[in-house]
Amino acid sequence: MIDDVEHILISEQEIQQRVQELAGQIEADYAGKDLLMVGLLKGAVTFMVDLARAMDRPVAVDFMAVSSYGASTESSGVVRFLKDLDESIEGKHVLVIEDIVDSGLTLQYILEILRQRKPASLRVCVLLDKKERRQVDIPMHYVGFTVPDAFVVGYGLDFDQIYRNLPFVGVLKPEIYESTLPDASSSAEAG
Ligand code: 5GP
Repeated sequence: MIDDVEHILISEQEIQQRVQELAGQIEADYAGKDLLMVGLLKGAVTFMVDLARAMDRPVAVDFMAVSSYGASTESSGVVRFLKDLDESIEGKHVLVIEDIVDSGLTLQYILEILRQRKPASLRVCVLLDKKERRQVDIPMHYVGFTVPDAFVVGYGLDFDQIYRNLPFVGVLKPEIYESTLPDASSSAEAG
């Protein structure tokens, strides 16, 4: 698996240190309030679990899964729900946990849906920000790292469902995905 990685972008140690920092910040910001972390399956799971474990306070968790359509329809931001939340978020302090924000379209759509459900507050915590690819302005309150425009895997992020369990974030060798990229008309699970 590690042989498919061209280079390590963010080491395990850097990730763990940043997770501790973000957890501390979130703990301080939500002091005295209930906190519901909403993880976007599947990519955000690793990050969310580590983040929650780094906090010394009660945290409720829930999950959502969406599929994003392929390259030709990507800019429409149309996503399909594969799994909705189990509980109502009305009146709750919701923190959405995402692995990576690229165009921002997936998150924009999800935030709009969640906003309609009237949470007490709605914030976003993202591990990786691929800033230069952004198409829409998304309010991101907590950001782990800004990353360049390259396809990254590890620490929850996959290619073809592989590499999620790498402890670091790395850039995949182009030859791994160039031959197997899904065609533009297909839909793929986001995250
Ligand atoms: P957006 O809607 O912001 O363009 O896309 C967000 C989703 O695209 C992420 O949740 C993730 O599933 C996927 N994605 C974008 N860039 C990368 C990347 O570099 N690596 C991986 N593994 N997934 C990515």
